[in-house]
Amino acid sequence: IQSKLPGVSTTIFSVMSKLAAEYNAINLSQGFPDYPSDPKLTELVNKAMKDGFNQYAPMPGNVFLKEAIAEKVENCYNVKYNPDTEITVTAGGTQAIFTALASIINPGDEVIIFEPAYDCYAPTIKLFGGLVKTYQLAPPDYGIDWDMVKKLFTSSTRMIILNSPQNPTGSILSESDMKSLIKLISGTDILIISDEVYEHLIYDEQKHKSVMLYPELRERSFIVASFGKLLHATGWKLGYCLAPEQLTKEFRKVHQFNVFSVNSPMQQAIAEYIKNPDNYTGITNFFETKRNYFRGLLADTRFELLPCKGSYFQCASYAKISDEKDVDFSIRLIKEFGVATIPVSAFYQKANDHKIIRFCFAKEHATLALAADKLRNV
Ligand code: PMP
Ligand code: GLN
Repeated sequence: IQSKLPGVSTTIFSVMSKLAAEYNAINLSQGFPDYPSDPKLTELVNKAMKDGFNQYAPMPGNVFLKEAIAEKVENCYNVKYNPDTEITVTAGGTQAIFTALASIINPGDEVIIFEPAYDCYAPTIKLFGGLVKTYQLAPPDYGIDWDMVKKLFTSSTRMIILNSPQNPTGSILSESDMKSLIKLISGTDILIISDEVYEHLIYDEQKHKSVMLYPELRERSFIVASFGKLLHATGWKLGYCLAPEQLTKEFRKVHQFNVFSVNSPMQQAIAEYIKNPDNYTGITNFFETKRNYFRGLLADTRFELLPCKGSYFQCASYAKISDEKDVDFSIRLIKEFGVATIPVSAFYQKANDHKIIRFCFAKEHATLALAADKLRNV
């Protein structure tokens, strides 16, 4: 059959996690914690099931959860979103991104992304006939020159996808980035998807600059969040999309025929859990400690660490270790040294030879220490 996505094969995350299992390697590749989520949360799911939350949730999401999300957003950012008209609960961040693109992109529309980019953006844009316009971020800082972004604008530019803190680079958007972006899009009707799934994973006392903090951006943005990251439960595949009423209307037209609604007992449990801010405010310190610990461990290896200002990913160059391409090097790391990572070229549409790999540090300290023991031999 004629493929709609001829350039696409199985995602690097599936490939590397499978290889890690096959070779019994320590899996620092796919981004997920290796420690349990809070038992209180699992008890709340049991309770929700016993209380009868076992049939379809309302299409846009459990009413209590949408209210709890609105409260959390107001607590964190002092911005109000209307639970009825501006918040939709989704099957993870991925479905929110997919649905936002599906609801806006027509054939020929151009979407600007920043590479390296999370792997679902480009294929989803293409699925709806959109054209991907790419801005290349350069290591080690992966900063943005907004005048160069402007050069990508044409009369067909329909959307920009932002991701801060960024996967895989751990870079973040600053106040000055946001101001430049506001200038750039003023007078255009360009919309934004702001992938903020790592909103709380931001370090060194930096504050996350959500697009919702800027009215000129908020009014044109779909903001994507993930409970997988917030609750250390990536397998639950729950998240949400915040967007102004007009955008939410379009979003829900697609959402209702894509999934209709998502997991009911878990929505009820999350609603009760996040009502108490103590259940999530520690997450920043929790991951900052892991980042510092892991960077300390890698300091004794031949890997050269790139900055990590946010996310639970640490990138490193192996240029001083090997001449291999990153995919070959990552496979050899699994087979010969027992550590699985992600080759960063997987986050680009065109292969490159930057010799950078990504480690996930959302792991027990013991796992990170064990991995470092192995990486010292490389
Ligand atoms: N965006 C980014 C940048 C991610 O790293 C991820 C994955 N973990 C997602 C979106 C998808 O989140 P979810 O697992 O909630 O679908
Ligand atoms: N977001 C996770 C990562 O970057 C992976 C999610 C997935 O496997 N699709 O590792």
